[in-house]
Amino acid sequence: MMDHSRLIPPTLDSMTVADIAARMTADGLAAAHAVTLFRALHSDLPGDLSATPLPPPLARWLAAQPAPLVSHVEQAGATSSDDGRTMKWLLRLADEQRIETVMMGYPGRRTACLSTQVGCAMGCVFCATGQMGFVRNLTPGEIVAQALFVACRARETGGDRLRNLVLMGMGEPLANFDAVMQALAIIADPRGLNIGPSRISISTAGHVPGIRRLACQPRRYRLVVSLHAATDEERTALVPINRRWPIADLMDACREYAARQQRRILVAWTLIAGQNDRAEDARRLVSLVRGLDVQVNLIPLNLTDGYAGATAAAADVTAFQRLLLDAGVPATIRQRRGIDVAAGCGQLAVSDCT
Ligand code: SF4
Repeated sequence: MMDHSRLIPPTLDSMTVADIAARMTADGLAAAHAVTLFRALHSDLPGDLSATPLPPPLARWLAAQPAPLVSHVEQAGATSSDDGRTMKWLLRLADEQRIETVMMGYPGRRTACLSTQVGCAMGCVFCATGQMGFVRNLTPGEIVAQALFVACRARETGGDRLRNLVLMGMGEPLANFDAVMQALAIIADPRGLNIGPSRISISTAGHVPGIRRLACQPRRYRLVVSLHAATDEERTALVPINRRWPIADLMDACREYAARQQRRILVAWTLIAGQNDRAEDARRLVSLVRGLDVQVNLIPLNLTDGYAGATAAAADVTAFQRLLLDAGVPATIRQRRGIDVAAGCGQLAVSDCT
């Protein structure tokens, strides 16, 4: 599959301080200017380099760099939930592709839900993004630019800092592994957004090679695995990528991640009425995760136009949770956030954000 993100020229916001320094020294400019530029790109007025006074040698070097200097991420629409605590933006990229980014407000802090691809190839049947198919990967700069965009909006709308990131927006993050890791290294830098790995969750539909690569990373990100079913037949019906990486391989990769990273894995389980919300489903899930340090997050299905399944009844959600807890498996029920603006899990797709 052709990845059109490779045709997009590298921008300065796709680079770490070390990358920028290497480029400067190759041009005969002192590497010390790299920190000045990085701060200008990633803090007070991100992207607006003209508003930042820069030392003349750095300004001359910048003027000689090929355009564009930073990723083009332009607001094309915005909606906010009825309670005002969730905002969703439609963002237009340089090639006119569009993505969605979400900000969730909690007391004293904000969390951004970022996209990592335009569309998605995983094809989860209940997911609006999966229903639109894969278009292209995002560049590191386009991922960083979403975080900066939300950080600015957080400051404008109440002053809370952007503290946490979840990579649960459009796309499968582990299928765009190198760009995601580069973006997160930039986002973690204390001279920029300063959001470290312990505050970042990476969600996967079960991309086994990506989980194994994540297991070997020096940075310990939180892994979220969308399981949704405990038999291959049922899981393949919901998450078609299960044909390629069946449950046994997925659980092996999770065990490798847990052993190497020593971090609890979050298991996401979307509850669909009559399909995976029965007592036997809960018991199978308990057997599957036995011996693994996990927390199960139960998500009553968020409805999308392209999927006919129904949300599990509240009583069945509670009963499912009780079964897990009684078996010693920590389980929570996800707060339903942003459902009225289609910003809930599985609802992101470029649509009606105006
Ligand atoms: S749930 Fe995630 S991995 Fe599955 S199709 Fe949607 S965006 Fe892709």
